[in-house]
Amino acid sequence: MMFDVIRRFMFYVFVTVTGSIAYILITIKNMVVARKKIRVQGSECKFCMNSIARTKQTVLYSDDLVYVLEDINPDAKFHFLINTHEHIVSINSLKRKDIPLLQHMQKIGSKMLQEKGCDPRSCTLGFHVPPFYTIKHLHMHAMGGGFSSLLHKLPFIDGTWLFTSTNQLIATLNKS
Ligand SMILES: [Zn+2]
Ligand SMILES: [Zn+2]
Repeated sequence: MMFDVIRRFMFYVFVTVTGSIAYILITIKNMVVARKKIRVQGSECKFCMNSIARTKQTVLYSDDLVYVLEDINPDAKFHFLINTHEHIVSINSLKRKDIPLLQHMQKIGSKMLQEKGCDPRSCTLGFHVPPFYTIKHLHMHAMGGGFSSLLHKLPFIDGTWLFTSTNQLIATLNKS
């Protein structure tokens, strides 16, 4: 009789202890998985994703350094985004050694606009000035054929605290 009680008690202890250990392990595992998920989402960059061809948008041009998309919310008749394949956060991360990359971006942007019948000299080609940008991945806006309205033009006026033309940016880097 006594032996039976002890056996039942031991069995109860065994179930409780193993159950608790399993519960703790599962909780820890879920916490680790959740943390991992947050980390991946945090490092997920829309333009890096586009770069590895996971975009639903049509890639209009691509080479070793850049790829071109149409802006999904165009501010001008023709509005292209020249994006770097490399994850560069903003113009603030650029050094003198990046001038050839900028010249290349300018060349591709001009080419895209020329193909639409625009004269690149009368077009807007340039970059957001931090902190006034939403996507933290270097991209050049190339716009031609006229802005949709004055309101659409305002964020893209060269030399303001919002925007710098590629030529102006190159000149600044040259002086640094
Ligand atoms: Zn990126
Ligand atoms: Zn932009």
